[in-house]
Amino acid sequence: MAQQFDYVIVGAGSAGCILANRLSADASVTVALIEAGPRDRKLEIKIPAAFPKLFHTPFDWDLYTVPQKELDARELYWPRGKTWGGSSSLNAQMWVRGAQADYDAWGPGWTYAEVLPYFRRAERRIGSNAESTYGTDGPLFIEELRSPNPLRSHFFEACAEAGFRRLPELNVPSIDGYAPTPVTQHRGRRWSTADGYLRPILKRPNLTVLSEARARRVLLTEGRATGVEYSDSSGVAQVIARREVILSAGAVHSPHLLQLSGIGNPDMLKLAGIETIVASAEVGANLQDHLSAVVIYHCPEPITLVAAEKPAELVKFLTRRRGMLTSNVGEGVAFARSDASLRTPDLEFIFAPVPFIDHGQTDPPGHGLTIGAILLQPDSRGTVSAVSADPTQAPHIEPNYLSEPSDLERLVNGVEQCQSLFGSAALSPHVSAPMQPGPNETDMTAYVRARSETLYHPTSTCRMGSDAESVVDLDLRVRGVDGLRVADASVMPRIIRGHTHAPAVMIAEKAADLIRSAR
Ligand SMILES: Cc1cc2nc3c(=O)[nH]c(=O)nc-3n(C[C@H](O)[C@H](O)[C@H](O)COP(=O)(O)OP(=O)(O)OC[C@H]3O[C@@H](n4cnc5c(N)ncnc54)[C@H](O)[C@@H]3O)c2cc1C
Repeated sequence: MAQQFDYVIVGAGSAGCILANRLSADASVTVALIEAGPRDRKLEIKIPAAFPKLFHTPFDWDLYTVPQKELDARELYWPRGKTWGGSSSLNAQMWVRGAQADYDAWGPGWTYAEVLPYFRRAERRIGSNAESTYGTDGPLFIEELRSPNPLRSHFFEACAEAGFRRLPELNVPSIDGYAPTPVTQHRGRRWSTADGYLRPILKRPNLTVLSEARARRVLLTEGRATGVEYSDSSGVAQVIARREVILSAGAVHSPHLLQLSGIGNPDMLKLAGIETIVASAEVGANLQDHLSAVVIYHCPEPITLVAAEKPAELVKFLTRRRGMLTSNVGEGVAFARSDASLRTPDLEFIFAPVPFIDHGQTDPPGHGLTIGAILLQPDSRGTVSAVSADPTQAPHIEPNYLSEPSDLERLVNGVEQCQSLFGSAALSPHVSAPMQPGPNETDMTAYVRARSETLYHPTSTCRMGSDAESVVDLDLRVRGVDGLRVADASVMPRIIRGHTHAPAVMIAEKAADLIRSAR
């Protein structure tokens, strides 16, 4: 007999841990949380600077895009968290909500004023809270870096020289300026949604966590989601959902699970050999991501994170939770414009006191500093598509990076602005020769095509909207099916001008209210 629950949540990631907490707070309902990955018992998850050490391990889905036509046919590596906390256990911990204008375009119920209470409900801000920007008693610690690199202040001076504005806090409604990065850390260690929301409630008798259990499809009966089929070490099994199934499997796997369940674009499903049960053309469509191109300079001062692997740093971390290992790598942020006439920033610059090469996995040739340019509002759109009915076969990820020429132009402009920041009076005394682009890489368009990488922010593959074509409605209900919602980064109508963890958290906090009020 399949086990029965009121709610079945798929994915214990940024969003899923929150839903498990908020829904099981009502002792009269039962909740199952199904997570494909193992528990988050790994020192590298707790050490903020160690996240690249988790790449290509069992804690990572280890995904790749299809060859990118506009990026020299490269297949880009896409890490995604596969453990409790999901990508919040693997990410760079930057807490960046994005601009007010982004949310105001999402639709009724999702304007900045309406979602702000959900950000604040999640936040437990420690330290600076200028203009009372943040919540102070939520489950997620938002703190300052405890041991920021001394060179970060020169990056901020370079931003001031460039005419950017110092923000009182990074998370003010108008993100127009620069500031230190607030991080999801507590006393120098990572603080994921598993830390904030899941671990404290594991003793609740009405919550069942199925770990290392991979959802294969949503069970549909007469137009209603009735449960989930999953596999674990004992084989294939089912759980029944008396009220709702909620997909929080992230921007790649939530649309993939819908497709595996027969909900999607009929042409795409047919090619994959999957019978269409509910036609929904945009499932997996509308994929957006933040593409990043970095500029790296050698640094003659031996104080960058290249030294983070010294045993003394590990001792400092283990004994005092201080030192280089508490760095989140992306220590400072500036928002800027590719065109001065734009009303809102369309570029972000991230300062990292280390040569961040090959996702932090290649040992750099000595000390160096990185400023990454990120295109915040890409016009290019991509897809996530099942390629077979086999749930273990990864979907095709086609981000179509730079397929819109304006994206390439703006990112090239961003790289040039990063080079200017390095040439500033504030930063130039602290760098020597350029590392990337190297002396022979003079064509910046070719450089962007050859070197750009993901900033790890895929969104919008289960787009929310009030129009009939959207995948979910404004209450996150999957159109054409009863008892099924999606709540994670995939529902964003458009990627935000910020980072995607904070909005995934906000979406889950709001989803919990929507689900509870539907009873
Ligand atoms: C390396 C890296 C660095 C990043 N840095 C930052 C940053 O500094 N700041 C920021 O804001 N954002 C950052 N991000 C992005 C951010 O972490 C994500 O956007 C956010 O965590 C997405 O939340 P989610 O709930 O949508 O998905 P996730 O947190 O990815 O959760 C999805 C969960 O579902 C599980 N799952 C998937 N399929 C199945 C299945 N079939 N069955 C069962 N379980 C399943 C996964 O294992 C995972 O636990 C980064 C991401 C990465 C990978």
